Amino acid sequence: MGDKYLMKTYGRLQMALVRGSGARVWDADGREYLDFVGGLAVNSLGHCHPAVARAIAGQAETLMHVSNLYYIEPQVKLAQILVENSCGDRVFFCNSGAEANEAAIKLARKYAKVNGSPDKYEIITALKSFHGRTLATITATGQAKYQQGFEPLPPGFKYVPFNDLNALKAAVGPNTCAVMLEPVQGEGGVNAADPGYLQGVRKLCSEKGLLLIFDEVQCGLGRTGKLLAHQHYGVDPDIFTLAKALGGGFPIGAAVAREEAAGAFVPGDHASTFGGNPLACAAGLAAMDQLINRGVVENASRVGEYFKGRLQDMASRYPFAREVRGLGLMLGLELAVDGREIVARCQDNGLLINCVNNNVLRFLPPLIITENDVDSAAGVLDKVMGEVSAKLPGRNEIA
Ligand SMILES: *Cc1c(COP(=O)(O)O)cnc(C)c1O
Repeated sequence: MGDKYLMKTYGRLQMALVRGSGARVWDADGREYLDFVGGLAVNSLGHCHPAVARAIAGQAETLMHVSNLYYIEPQVKLAQILVENSCGDRVFFCNSGAEANEAAIKLARKYAKVNGSPDKYEIITALKSFHGRTLATITATGQAKYQQGFEPLPPGFKYVPFNDLNALKAAVGPNTCAVMLEPVQGEGGVNAADPGYLQGVRKLCSEKGLLLIFDEVQCGLGRTGKLLAHQHYGVDPDIFTLAKALGGGFPIGAAVAREEAAGAFVPGDHASTFGGNPLACAAGLAAMDQLINRGVVENASRVGEYFKGRLQDMASRYPFAREVRGLGLMLGLELAVDGREIVARCQDNGLLINCVNNNVLRFLPPLIITENDVDSAAGVLDKVMGEVSAKLPGRNEIA
């Protein structure tokens, strides 16, 4: 029925998940899986976290939606939490990562307009980045495969290689208003910024009067073992964006800005009908309470280190494994072979993982997993890698 009634926008695996609890999910046939996809970094608290489920149920019986014509209590409280735990001062709420980045792009352009640079509109982004699927955000995304077929693209974006400060310096021109980067690229293959890079980018932006935007939609909210990935680098952006894990599984996104940048938006400049509605924000409040006050981020850091060690051990034993990358529980294992067979075999063995660019196994498990869960996952992966290795032709034939 799915193939008959849905638009064919996804290459779906032959499976329907119908139930989840903690780091585990069950398919329609009752089979259990350890979930190291985690809704692609959404299910950071695991599935159906009781505190989040209770908050949603309670708010659903109290007030689900009112317009942003009025103040919305849970929205203001969630904004307070984001501000008190970051370098940001003000929050705009929306419903997804792409929308959060749209808000950041519009804010950066408006900031230039009202600060004496009406002809600055260009935003420099990185190759291998990913910023969403709307027209502006596929254009911000430095990967042609997301753009092809949708031309003409909106003007005003320029791309530079990630982790190359000189290339960025050279790309800044008279029309540049901002730089937008993921501190750890997700869809591009789990590529973390070099420590000195983000510091250099910050300095450059400050010198040239450019806004620095960090897309933390995937790497933010504890995923890398700190609440925000840029906190590893000691670098504060002017704007950062959030979504995925923000609602504990419920859709919500946010653009967070420092006062100076946020001031460019005045009433009427930007809006979202559903953005910041009571239900989504109640979910966000419960999720952020768990994430910030219950040791979840610390767990991600500790268990992430342990998992990385297990992956490095495997990478050293299988010649077709190239490199382990990432921070906290945002980890990638680059292979010299197609990773999709490994994904399928892991699924057959009760482990859900994901693969980006066809050759980087990506792991985004719930941040609440234990070392035992890692042992289970690593055991399956090791077995599957062994099977794949036994099947491979001689070493010199590996690409
Ligand atoms: C997932 C993602 C987005 C897009 O989020 P949606 O909620 O799918 O619109 C944007 N940026 C990054 C870094 C992402 O990983």
